[in-house]
Order: sequence, then structure tokens, then C-alpha cells
Amino acid sequence: MSELVTHRIRATAAKLGLPHLACSLDHLTGRADAGRMGYLDFLDLALSEELAVRDDRRFHTALRLSKLPHHKTLDDYDFAFQPDLDPRKVKDLATLAFIEARSNAAFLGPPGVGKTHLAVALAVAACRAGYSVYFTTLDDMVRNLRAADTAGRLTIKMRTYLRSSVLVIDEVGYQTLTRDDANLLFQVVSKRYEKGPILLTSNKTYSEWGQVFSDDVLATAILDRLLHHCTTLPINGPSYRLRNQLSTLEGALAGI
Ligand code: ADP
Ligand code: MG
Repeated sequence: MSELVTHRIRATAAKLGLPHLACSLDHLTGRADAGRMGYLDFLDLALSEELAVRDDRRFHTALRLSKLPHHKTLDDYDFAFQPDLDPRKVKDLATLAFIEARSNAAFLGPPGVGKTHLAVALAVAACRAGYSVYFTTLDDMVRNLRAADTAGRLTIKMRTYLRSSVLVIDEVGYQTLTRDDANLLFQVVSKRYEKGPILLTSNKTYSEWGQVFSDDVLATAILDRLLHHCTTLPINGPSYRLRNQLSTLEGALAGI
């Protein structure tokens, strides 16, 4: 009798799209027996486990689709290494309220200070919270859009950069863009304006963007939309990549 019921529960759970319940029924009932659970507690356990498994699966799918270069988190970031960066401001961003507010966030600073790390950490948190994320460097985005434009497929390709809840644009300013390429960025920024948050990193200050985009008017138009609702966190400390070389150098200098 109980085997028949077990079989039927498994089949029903599978039909209802509850795969964890279907395959872990014995384990769950074992735990219920061991813990002498009541009906409500057992139902609560079964449903919350199903939800946890589903959330975890959704999180991993979102990470895979995001094309993030790695999955470092804020816990991996040593704030003591950048004393000028206020951890509270980063943690405020990590509440992800900026996503709900459809506003942007930008990390500005020289190479190696952790701009990409922090943008990725926020993006990972966004994936965990159920948002979709897409990561690209500015150069890759512009190259893809330019190729699509040449092939008459700009509108379709544009969707890659418009459909995710959060778009991460890494490395703005490493290379100078032509006016046409800057115009492609302008289109992305203005189409996402007040609709889809952008997280960006740049090694240039905003006042240098005119040179990056070969056009002051276009740079101003991009900045106007980007900065209307934006949290900018400048990080002007030492490079983490060079920390060992720096301490060796400091040691050598101390010995002089
Ligand atoms: P940026 O984008 O500013 O050039 P990255 O984010 O690529 O710098 O950081 C370079 C490397 O150093 C990465 O491996 C990153 O995880 C690490 N890193 C940078 N800053 C820190 C930090 N404060 N704590 C821990 N790791 C850091
Ligand atoms: Mg970087």
C-alpha cells in the first residue's frame, strides 16, 4: 500500500514540476520520521527544499548565461587594501536597490584596483537574487554591434545588450572609439535609460570620456543619460595585481 502511494506521489510530483520532491521522497520522509515532524512541518520542509533547489538551479543558469569572466564575490574582496573606498557604499549597492530603481553604478580607477572584481561581485549577487545579467567589455560589445550593423542585423544584435536586467560594461576607456562606435554605445545607453541598469568600469574619469569617444558632444550625451541616476565609486588606490612587487619595492627602499 505505502509503496503504491510513494509511487503515485513521485509521479504526481514529477507532473507538477517538483523534481526534487519526486526523487528525494524517501530521504524527506526519513527526516520526518527521525524528527517526529507534524504534517505542517513536513509539508514546509518538502516545499522549502524544492524552492531552494529551484533557486539554486536558476542561479547557476543565470551565471552561465551572464558570461561573467569569473564568479568572485564581495567576501573575496579585501577592503583593507583600498582604504579610500568606503565598504558601506559597495554594500549599499549589494542590496541591489539600484536595480529596482533602474539606476546605474560605475567603478572608476586605474588598473588592478578591483573594478572588474566589484562589478562581477554585484552581478553574481544579482544572479543569486533572480535577475538576469549580461557581461561584456566595451570593445567586444562595439565590435559585435558593428559587425551586426554591417550584416544588416543591428536591431537583433542590440537585443543581446538590452534584454538582461543588468548589463555589465567592463573596460570603458581602455581603447579610443571611433565616432560611429561611440554612437553604438550611445544607442545601448539611451535604450536602457531608466529601464535597464548598467554596471560599468572605466580607467578614465568622466571628463576624459570626450577623448575616449572622439567626440565631446556624443560623450556628453552618453554621460547625460548614464549619470542621471548613477552611483559612481572612484577607487584611486594601489594595484592589487602589483601588491607583491610593491611590498618588495617598499622593502628595498626601506633598506636604502
Ligand atoms: P581592475 O578591473 O580594476 O583592473 P580587477 O578587478 O581585474 O582590477 O582585479 C585584478 C585582480 O586582483 C583580480 O584577480 C581581483 O580579484 C584581484 N583584486 C583586486 N583588488 C582586490 C582586493 N582589494 N581584494 C582582493 N582581490 C583583489
Ligand atoms: Mg578590469
